[in-house]
Amino acid sequence: MEQYYYDFGTWIKKQLPYKVQKISVDAGFSCPNRDGRIGKGGCIFCDNRTFNPSYCGQGKTVSQQLEDGKKFFAHKYPGMKYLAYFQAYTNTYGSLEHLKSIYEEALGVEDVVGIVIGTRPDCVSEELLDYLEALSRRTFLIVEYGIESCNDATLKYINRGHDFACTRRAIEETARRGILVGGHIILGLPGEDAAESLRQAPVISSLPLNILKIHQLQIIRGTRLAQLYSQHPFHLYSVEEYIELIARYIQLLRKDLVLERFVSQSPPDLLIAPKWGLKNYEFAHRLNNYLKANRP
Ligand code: SF4
Repeated sequence: MEQYYYDFGTWIKKQLPYKVQKISVDAGFSCPNRDGRIGKGGCIFCDNRTFNPSYCGQGKTVSQQLEDGKKFFAHKYPGMKYLAYFQAYTNTYGSLEHLKSIYEEALGVEDVVGIVIGTRPDCVSEELLDYLEALSRRTFLIVEYGIESCNDATLKYINRGHDFACTRRAIEETARRGILVGGHIILGLPGEDAAESLRQAPVISSLPLNILKIHQLQIIRGTRLAQLYSQHPFHLYSVEEYIELIARYIQLLRKDLVLERFVSQSPPDLLIAPKWGLKNYEFAHRLNNYLKANRP
């Protein structure tokens, strides 16, 4: 199949000599934007119940979660290896000693060949980055930052608790150490129309990121955003509008930037809107058809 962008599947095959599957791990971290250290209430769109598949969390240790995850995926391919994905909340929010013990526990599990650490850009110290630099020399490691937007007014509105300068600093400091860096953004945040997203694309592309995940805005039950949406409903993209936007957006990105996802899919009972019911691979397929039919 013709490729119109550098997709994660192609990239990861070049990084590791075996098939890998990410296993989400909930290591019991909190978030400084929830517990009051940086903010209270968290980002207005956030509900961490959407992060965890059934095999993880529930008071199990990191190794137990990984073993359960392995059983869940083992039937797919013999010889499959795994990446421990620290996804829920802020996975660098703890003392360095504690963080080391958690990451090392994951790496001690048989067939776990690397880790992916999701975090906030204001939650990485120099000391931690120095440790991660050393870790990245002996194992496969991606540090994944929530960027969400480059627009400080939006970051303030969504109660993010940091500005874009902070994001840029963290990404640059991480990349400077030779650590693989991922970023996560949301398209369609309140106040951001398609023109604003397209303005941000080159800014995102100028960051020394290796991997980018792009998500559509979703309204999740029980969040502050759900409350705002019910009081003053605003426009959410249809699939067709979103495909068109993504097609234009990716034209503005570096060709070597690896695109890992375009959609997120929250559990149907938690999702208020938009109800697309599309998995990432289904979306990617539709996007590819669109890109093929609309070649520049
Ligand atoms: S999205 Fe991340 S940073 Fe924001 S409140 Fe949720 S866990 Fe914290």
